[in-house]
Amino acid sequence: MTGYDTADVLVVGSGIAGCAAALAAAREGADVLVVTKATRPEDASTDWAQGGISTTRGDPESLKADVLAASDGTADEDAIDVLLEDADDAVEDVLLETLEVEFDEAGDDFDYTREAGHSVRRILHVDATTGTHILRPFLEYLDDHERVEIRQDTAALELLTHEGRVHGVVTDEKADGNPVYAGATVLATGGVGVLYPRSTNPDDATGDGIAMAALAGAEVADLEYVQFHPTAFDGDDPFLLSEALRGEGAVLRNGDGERFMPDYHPDADLAPRDVVARAVAREREGTDEVVLDVSTLEDEFEADYPAIAEKCRDRGIDGDEIPVAPCEHFLCGGIDVDDRGRTSLDRLYAVGECARTGVHGANRLASTSLLEGLVWGLRAGADAVGNGNDGEVIEAPDLRNSDPELPERFAAEKFVRLQRTMDEYLGLERDLEDVARAGAVLRRLKGEVDAYTRTRTSRSLYELRHACVTALLIARSAAENPESRGCHYVVDEGANQAEPETPADD
Ligand SMILES: Cc1cc2nc3c(=O)[nH]c(=O)nc-3n(C[C@H](O)[C@H](O)[C@H](O)COP(=O)(O)OP(=O)(O)OC[C@H]3O[C@@H](n4cnc5c(N)ncnc54)[C@H](O)[C@@H]3O)c2cc1C
Repeated sequence: MTGYDTADVLVVGSGIAGCAAALAAAREGADVLVVTKATRPEDASTDWAQGGISTTRGDPESLKADVLAASDGTADEDAIDVLLEDADDAVEDVLLETLEVEFDEAGDDFDYTREAGHSVRRILHVDATTGTHILRPFLEYLDDHERVEIRQDTAALELLTHEGRVHGVVTDEKADGNPVYAGATVLATGGVGVLYPRSTNPDDATGDGIAMAALAGAEVADLEYVQFHPTAFDGDDPFLLSEALRGEGAVLRNGDGERFMPDYHPDADLAPRDVVARAVAREREGTDEVVLDVSTLEDEFEADYPAIAEKCRDRGIDGDEIPVAPCEHFLCGGIDVDDRGRTSLDRLYAVGECARTGVHGANRLASTSLLEGLVWGLRAGADAVGNGNDGEVIEAPDLRNSDPELPERFAAEKFVRLQRTMDEYLGLERDLEDVARAGAVLRRLKGEVDAYTRTRTSRSLYELRHACVTALLIARSAAENPESRGCHYVVDEGANQAEPETPADD
């Protein structure tokens, strides 16, 4: 072995969940190393979060009812109780007092906003760039912390495991791999957007943490629940049009200029995300035309959503009607964890979007992901310190880095096949025969990738392999679940079809 690094707590990922875990562990006196494969630590989904972060606003029971309703009754009530118990203290302690995030205010109070599925205004935000205003100060704070080191452009490739215990990871920091040994390892690697051709996620979202954990034998759960956002910009390089826009009065219209959501759900444009996404897809059939009409907003579009307005202008949209289509947005399932973020493997934790806490069930309520990442990150980071660091160094695999050019081309080609398969067979609506077909295609693809990687290694090949493994796990979960619930909509099930429920009444 050429050399290695050590840490009391190793955190993989620099989004809100990884930052929260690092903060909590450092506060307990641990030496923390955060590695992120991004070249700038702020390049994470967290930075792109728009609408905001939910609070209970003094009424946890009503937030619990909304989380449960959005999940179609499938969320785990004990997990929601954990979220609600810690939510307001975590926001107060970390975001308001430690990081001094200046959320938008109205008069003497915060300017709480509302998004689909929320029965009241309870979401803190900074216009529609909330994630940036949370993550940047978080990273700055950790950067200045004497017990925390943040290492960018460093990808975790494999977990180091021995007899069911995780001892750290191998990173690609050196050409032949660089092991980092840690008392506890916290995976905070985010989502899986890159598995689909259209996603709101950054390019790093290749499902690495889920695949690494599963390959090491950790339990995963609820992976069939891939959430598609109803209102992504319809065009190349899609971006999100926050649900807060509909929360503040924007409405969806079809190719005939008619509102259609009242035909699908009593809450119309503010129905749960999965219902709206399927309705948008249905209305686009044959015309490819659905727009988000922002002329009905109670806010000023340009003044109150400057970042979104600018992106629209960049794409040549200067009127009130923005073309939208559903696109992959969030994974509700992930690495199975308990109320402290502990996985089924000793000394391995998972937090944030790569974890499955049970809070989201089959469909996530808007603005609860940042909150879940914050709460579970803090819990896991504090718990992880208790493992100590026994300094045990186990054998790390040798990585055979080769000329990067060939693997790049191979990975790019295979990624296209992977994305096409996921889009065709594991999208917004699923047919169980297609799901089985997807499993077969993905198994073949993984076989080709495994054969290729026997003699070559590079970050992009690892990402491809992780994406294949995660895609296969999604296909397996979908195949094992014939019931339509939330984001997993089985067209041949017969029940729960997203037909219009009531005739239009507006
Ligand atoms: C456009 C957009 C808008 C959103 N708006 C909201 C909102 O308003 N409210 C809300 O609650 N949620 C929102 N979400 C969802 C929410 O932002 C994410 O679910 C959440 O930020 C995930 O946080 P995380 O810390 O788990 O992961 P991320 O923030 O995605 O961070 C993952 C980190 O892991 C790193 N990483 C990945 N693999 C590796 C590896 N192998 N080695 C090293 N590092 C690795 C990445 O580089 C990155 O640093 C939005 C998401 C998007 C994409």
